[in-house]
Formats: sequence, C-alpha cells, structure tokens
Amino acid sequence: TIQSRYRGRFAPSPTGPLHFGSLVTALASYLEANSRHGQWLVRIEDLDPLREPPEATGEILNSLDAHGLFPDEPVCFQSRRHDAYQEAIERLLGSGRAYRCSCSRKQLQANNGRHPQNCRNRHFATLDEPFAIRFALDDEQSRWQDQLLGPQQQVVRAEIDDPVILRKEGFFAYQLAVVVDDIEQGITDVVRGSDLLDMTAQQIQIYRALDATPPRWLHIPVILNEQGQKLSKQNHAPALDDATPVNNLFAALNALNQQPPQSLLAGSVDQLLEWGCKHWKRRAVHLTRR
Ligand code: GLU
Repeated sequence: TIQSRYRGRFAPSPTGPLHFGSLVTALASYLEANSRHGQWLVRIEDLDPLREPPEATGEILNSLDAHGLFPDEPVCFQSRRHDAYQEAIERLLGSGRAYRCSCSRKQLQANNGRHPQNCRNRHFATLDEPFAIRFALDDEQSRWQDQLLGPQQQVVRAEIDDPVILRKEGFFAYQLAVVVDDIEQGITDVVRGSDLLDMTAQQIQIYRALDATPPRWLHIPVILNEQGQKLSKQNHAPALDDATPVNNLFAALNALNQQPPQSLLAGSVDQLLEWGCKHWKRRAVHLTRR
C-alpha cells in the first residue's frame, strides 16, 4: 500500500542507553517528519536479548521523553512481533527467496562467500543440524536515490551477500525485521545514520520480495568522536545526560548544521524543538559521508 502522508520513525536497537549520536539521528528523523507535517513513530528493535541489557529500553524511552521527542503512536517493540517475522520467512521460503543454511562463517570465508554445499538448492534430509535462514538476493547493480546524499549505486551479489534473516540461535535478524515493520507501520520515509547506507540495496530487494514499495531513504552523517571513531555503544560513547536536554538538543542541532541561535539555550525543550521544526534545513546537514 502506498501511503501519501509522511510517516517516519526512529528505530534504536536497545544495546545501551541513548548517546549523543543516536540523539542526532532521532532529532533528524523527528524534525524531518514534523516539517513535512507527517507522523513520527518510535520502534524498539529488541531482537537480540544477549546484546541488550534489560534496562536499556526504559532508559532510551525516558531519554526521548526528557528531550520532548514524543511519538505520535504507541511505541512498537520487535520482541512482540515474532509472528509477523515468522510469517514473512515462510512466505519467502515458499516463493524461493529464502533458504536454509548451516554454513559457519569460517566455511563461507574459506570459500570466498560461496556456500560449499550449495545451500540455495540443497535439500535438508533432516533438520537436526543448526541452520540459519538467509534471504536469496538477486545479482544487481542497485541504483537508488538518497534524499540527502543523492544518487547511490551498489553492487548486490547473489549468494555471496545473502543476509541471514533468522539466526542459528533462533533470533530474527535486523535485515528482515526492519523491512517487515516498516511495511506494517506504513513508513514512507526512513531517516537513519549513514552507517546503514550499505544495507539499503539489500533491503530494497526484501521489500520487493514481499510485494511492497520501498520507502524514501535519507542517511545522515554519523557523528564521530575526537578520535574520529563513530559514536557508538561499542566505542563506549557516554550516555546522554537527561538532566540537560536543552543543551543536548542545541548541540544536536549544531551537529546537524542547523545553526540555532544562542538565545535558545535559555529557553525550554519545547521552544527549541519548535525552532528546529520551523527552521529545519535538510540541505544544511553536512555532506561528509561516514
Ligand atoms: N535498529 C537499527 C540501529 O539501531 C536502526 C534501524 C534503521 O534505522 O533502519 O542501528
């Protein structure tokens, strides 16, 4: 279904509390949605309990609240959407766009990414060895338009790049869940960090395999720390201080090159967000790519 009304979202994986880099992404998607008179949703991508401290989801949601970033609909949790992912997998298996694979990463590496037992066409006599399910990509020179970065090109290699959609451990994988939920939630516009740029071409193929229209994409530059590394939970980026939301949002507007006036620092969270919506200039966001 094609939604005419803009629907955007912020979709954090709760591997830790919100840090400055994720606030910048959240704010960009919020401002873009609001300046387009659209709706803005929040989805918690809690697919992997082993990597997610149980308190992280609550911390992220509290942080968003403290920064005045309230979604227009109830928060969606991927941990409650397993039936939908299972259904999508069965559909893809049925249409030949997904297959079972028991290869280890090592085996694939040793074989230049090819599946030594030809998994795509292999018949599993018994299913007692652990297997993952992969999406079967088509060979393609993918071309798509980024709303900020312009025309994008990416080579998609069938078999070699086939992403796991159900992991051997039994967890559903990001690459499938994000597409199933963006379809289900009628998301028209994805705004996210450019660390996910390379995922886009594969996701477009998954949309098509599920008979859905891909959304528009806008990738914003990833915020780097002083050492030039991506601000991330893996690099131990500090948690946002929820006691200073005005300062944090002001800094986030600056990181997005929106040039907020100093006077906003003396105002409220709402005043700052209102200024941000009114003056949002997508084109001003720095074009430094990753
Ligand atoms: N959950 C993903 C992450 O936190 C983002 C998903 C997306 O925006 O497509 O990296």
